[in-house]
Amino acid sequence: MWLTVSLNRPLVWVALIALPACVWIPDAALRLFAATLVMFGVWDVWTQVRQLRLRLRLTQDALGLTSDAMAISDAQNHVIAINPAFTEITGYTSQEILGLKLEALAAPRHDKSFYQSFWSALKSTGRWEGEMWNRRKHGDEYPEWLKVRAVTDKRGRITHYIHLFTDISAQKAREQDLRRIGYEDPLTGLPNRRRLHDLLASRLRHLRAGESLDMALVDIDGLKSVNDSLGVEQGDRLLARFAQRLTGYVAGSIVGRLGGDEFMVIRTTTFDDHDKWVATLREHMSRPFEINDHSLRLGLTIGSCRVPEDGNDSGILFQRVESALYSAKRLGRNQSQRFRPALDKQDNPQLALVSDLRAALISGDQLELHFQTQHRPSDGELLGMEALLRWRHPQDGLISPGDFIPLAERHGLMAQLGAWVIEKACAQQAHWRNSAMPKLTIWVNISALQLFQGDLEGQLATCLKRYQLTSAQIGLELTESVLLDERAGDMGPRLQALRDQGFAIAIDDFGTGYSSLGYLKRLPVDKIKLDRAFIKDLPHDQADASIVKAVLAMAAGMGLGVIAEGVETQEQCKFLVNAGCTSVQGFYFAKPMSAAELEKHLMTPLAAAPEPY
Ligand code: C2E
Ligand code: MG
Ligand code: MG
Repeated sequence: MWLTVSLNRPLVWVALIALPACVWIPDAALRLFAATLVMFGVWDVWTQVRQLRLRLRLTQDALGLTSDAMAISDAQNHVIAINPAFTEITGYTSQEILGLKLEALAAPRHDKSFYQSFWSALKSTGRWEGEMWNRRKHGDEYPEWLKVRAVTDKRGRITHYIHLFTDISAQKAREQDLRRIGYEDPLTGLPNRRRLHDLLASRLRHLRAGESLDMALVDIDGLKSVNDSLGVEQGDRLLARFAQRLTGYVAGSIVGRLGGDEFMVIRTTTFDDHDKWVATLREHMSRPFEINDHSLRLGLTIGSCRVPEDGNDSGILFQRVESALYSAKRLGRNQSQRFRPALDKQDNPQLALVSDLRAALISGDQLELHFQTQHRPSDGELLGMEALLRWRHPQDGLISPGDFIPLAERHGLMAQLGAWVIEKACAQQAHWRNSAMPKLTIWVNISALQLFQGDLEGQLATCLKRYQLTSAQIGLELTESVLLDERAGDMGPRLQALRDQGFAIAIDDFGTGYSSLGYLKRLPVDKIKLDRAFIKDLPHDQADASIVKAVLAMAAGMGLGVIAEGVETQEQCKFLVNAGCTSVQGFYFAKPMSAAELEKHLMTPLAAAPEPY
């Protein structure tokens, strides 16, 4: 240390040269002068050492304060220094770990190839970042987010490694909660519609020669009258008991709840006895349920279909079993109906709607963009707006996007529809640019199909140019399912490119999908839109309140913004402000409005705005 401190200072060199002069030069005055120079040199070295010590102490204090664990190891990965957070997370003190290889912490859940690729990435690029499982001193395994950097000498040889990591076990547990909420029907604990799609797709992939699938969608007739006569609580009890009996009866099959009073059963079989299977299912599930001293015999309406005869794509099979149920319901109560191809055409009103939608896209005049503003909840300040598509059907009136967007996706119209939305949003933004309207980003919803059927990037670029806009004026909302849709390929680089061009990116309906926060962490996104499902029962629902707080905390830690969707009441707003949420969207501040309505609304803000928090 002394050597490195001293040698790069001119005073030290002068002192070194002057040192022999103190002894050899006969002239006393010159000797005194040389001795003074030596003293200056010594004084300079001393000051430097003090500064270096101070810097070292400050670094050590800083490392002691951080909650990120740090370890420094030599070229053979023997630990030579750790900070207090390392001890806190792993349980190992300096005395116990110094000199040991860091591999001593490795958890058996990673295999050899994991470590091989870890070391080869680290040695070739000098860095590694990712999730790794390790073992604490007391044996339990925990996940950490680890960053490792290799330190090299002047000749490029690795001399040390610096390891920085945070314990993400709490975050993982929350992720699991969120995932479970996205997968499960809370009342019965059965897989929900989303999960059923996955399970069906997986069964279809693993179907062996000679095997087929029977699918039945069972609807309980008259659940509403049970709710009305015995109360909603008893209705819920009945649903839970129904789920229990169904699961027990068809052991080995997939059972799920699509919502309301609809249950799905999927069986893998080598028998060709579809109708008999449905009949016995009906017979068993129609036996009376004892609820509150009442013996309830339920009427059941069942739609069914079979793989491979009725298709082998999970989306189409869902559609077909639903159309079979729909047709059974029209036969009257307590009926079963197996899917018939004719149902797809004659009886399915959805197909008529698809052809109407096709026509609407060509004419363009039945489609509208509405806009819903986004606000800072503490003072109501306008922050942005979301563009929401509307279809004004000539006969059926206003149709919700929730009804026609899935149709457009299924029938190959989504790329065109999405292109219409982008064009319209840009045109509107350009129109407002020259008006007294506040200058806000318009957020546009993007469907997965726009990413792999249309040329989203090209289209955005063309529209910006055509309307002379900047990318900051348009934000993109993608749902979790879009981000995870394998058909769209690896989204990371595409999102990064869009972000590099200046588009902000939000994850819509956050919490309803399957994405793990670990995965999202690696995606270049700016903010998450917390789904309405978590907001609607605030502040009374304890579970939702904790989830919202947890998401806000995690997002803050990851440098992501959060906007809460579907805020309807002052109470919800107040809760969100207290929880640190700085952006909300919902009926409390404004409903979606046509461009003309919005202009009017924003020109008289005081009359329309609710009391902010
Ligand atoms: P989203 O993107 O999550 O949009 C928010 C939805 O919540 C909108 O429904 C909005 O009207 C509704 N909403 C907003 N605030 C509240 C509230 O306080 N309470 C309640 N109950 N609801 C609220 P909307 O307009 O029916 O849209 C439904 C979904 O359709 C959208 O959900 C989005 O996923 C999709 N969508 C709408 N427009 C487009 C579009 O242009 N392209 C694509 N791909 N999807 C779109
Ligand atoms: Mg949205
Ligand atoms: Mg949403």
